[in-house]
Amino acid sequence: MSRTLILASNNPGKLKEFSALLAPIGYTLHPQGEFNVPEADEPHCTFVENALEKARHAACLTGMPALADDSGICINALGGAPGVLSARYAGEPKSDARNNQKLIADLDAHADKSGYYYCVLVFVRHANDPQPVIAEGRWDGQLVAEARGQGGFGYDPYFLLPELGLTVAELSAEQKNNLSHRGQALRMLIEKLR
Ligand code: IMP
Repeated sequence: MSRTLILASNNPGKLKEFSALLAPIGYTLHPQGEFNVPEADEPHCTFVENALEKARHAACLTGMPALADDSGICINALGGAPGVLSARYAGEPKSDARNNQKLIADLDAHADKSGYYYCVLVFVRHANDPQPVIAEGRWDGQLVAEARGQGGFGYDPYFLLPELGLTVAELSAEQKNNLSHRGQALRMLIEKLR
C-alpha cells in the first residue's frame, strides 16, 4: 500500500531525486504546492530547526505526513558561515555568482580553506509528531579561488574534493548523488523509515 507524503518544497529536482528512493519503500511524494501550501518561514540559525519548521508547516496545512530538507555550505575558518544563509550569502536577489565571489573574498585572508556541505532531512508523521525522523549528511572539501567544471549548481565549481582532485562541478550527476550530503542524508532517511 502506498503512503502519501508531502514534500515541503516545490523544487522539481528534489521531488524527482527524493521520489526515486522513496517510491520503492512505499511512499508517494507530492509537492506542497499541489495543496496550496505557501513557503514556510526559515527564521532559525540551524539547519535542523528550519527543516523542522518547514515539515511541520506542510503537515499542519495538509493533515498529512511531510518531509523537508535544509542544506548549505559551512566554512570552518568563518565559524560555519554562510550556513543557513548559503542561498542568499551576498544578499537579495539571490545569485550564485555573487555568493561565490563574496565567499572567495571572505576567505582570502585565511590559510584554512576547508569546509563542508551539510544537509538535514526531517520527516514528521503529523504536525505535532513528538519524534520526528531526522537524517543528515556531510561532505567535506576545500574552497578554491578559480571555478572549475560545468555541472551542479551553487558553490560546486569552487568546492574541491581533495581525494578526487575534482570540484563538485566536475562530477557527473550520478557521481554527485552517490557522494553528496543530500544523497547521504536521503540514504540514512530510507534506512530509518524502512
Ligand atoms: P537548499 O537547502 O536546497 O535551499 O540550498 C540552500 C543553498 O545551499 C543553495 O542555494 C546553495 O547555495 C547551497 N547548496 C546546498 N546544496 C548545494 C549543493 O549540492 N551544491 C552547491 N550549493 C549547494
